[in-house]
Amino acid sequence: MLIGAVEAGGTKFVYGIGNEKGKVIERFSTPTTKPDETFKIIGEYFASKDVEKIGIGSFGPIGVSPNTPTYGEVLKTPKPHWQGANFITEIQKYKNVPIIVDTDVNAGVLGEAIWGVAKGLKNCVYITIGTGIGAGVLVGGKLVHGLLHPEAGHFQPKRHKEELADFKGVCPFHGDCLEGLASGKSLGERWQMNGADIPPDHPQAWELEGYYLAQAVSNFILYTSPEKIILGGGVMHNLHLFPIVHKHVKQLLNGYIQHDQLLENIHTYIVPPQLGDNAGLLGSIALTL
Ligand code: ZN
Repeated sequence: MLIGAVEAGGTKFVYGIGNEKGKVIERFSTPTTKPDETFKIIGEYFASKDVEKIGIGSFGPIGVSPNTPTYGEVLKTPKPHWQGANFITEIQKYKNVPIIVDTDVNAGVLGEAIWGVAKGLKNCVYITIGTGIGAGVLVGGKLVHGLLHPEAGHFQPKRHKEELADFKGVCPFHGDCLEGLASGKSLGERWQMNGADIPPDHPQAWELEGYYLAQAVSNFILYTSPEKIILGGGVMHNLHLFPIVHKHVKQLLNGYIQHDQLLENIHTYIVPPQLGDNAGLLGSIALTL
């Protein structure tokens, strides 16, 4: 069975075909321009392929609840042109097969739970830390939807005692929410350099970053009791951040959760993703299974 997959991002769309065994057969990408242009490229591609269904993991906010009028639709967003664009109806103009839409992070957590680092687990969280911050949440084997979908990147952390007093955070809605204090964008603005250029031995940058991320992680441990927490996205390519997050999670929880995963094996509990470059497409395929 061939399955179509789309990873819809703010700067590019990755699309291709794969199968239910977790194999990506081919992949392409196209810049994210205007909906009609981007949907034409992707729609014509799928029209030429014998796919039975299509999974889409998208940037948010997006309607993720089937049987509601906004399913598959990009909701209120500052991103030009895309508000109101509907992935399902637009792509079905070219290829009339079932289309399943969810957030990119929900697709990510599901892919990792089927084929990746959380294989076989029914309760896990995937937090992606890049230009923005988002979280996909799997509870009891089901992706969490609700009023909309989790937006854990915007919770309000405590500020680090060494946070720069005049740094207000970069979130246009909340200032110093997690995304405002710990996204790739905030690293660049706080330290006045490209985030990728901050050295691993910077005296404060990674300590602050790890402290903020650890608050997100420890809150998830308290809220949904995940069996694995995956931290991905561009900022987490700095693997030296993991031990800093581990240290702060242990300090924040302060022994309250008595489990070996936290007390002895936290390095196998809070981990990088495993699916690599194909994570987005595999996650989108996973949505259709
Ligand atoms: Zn925010």
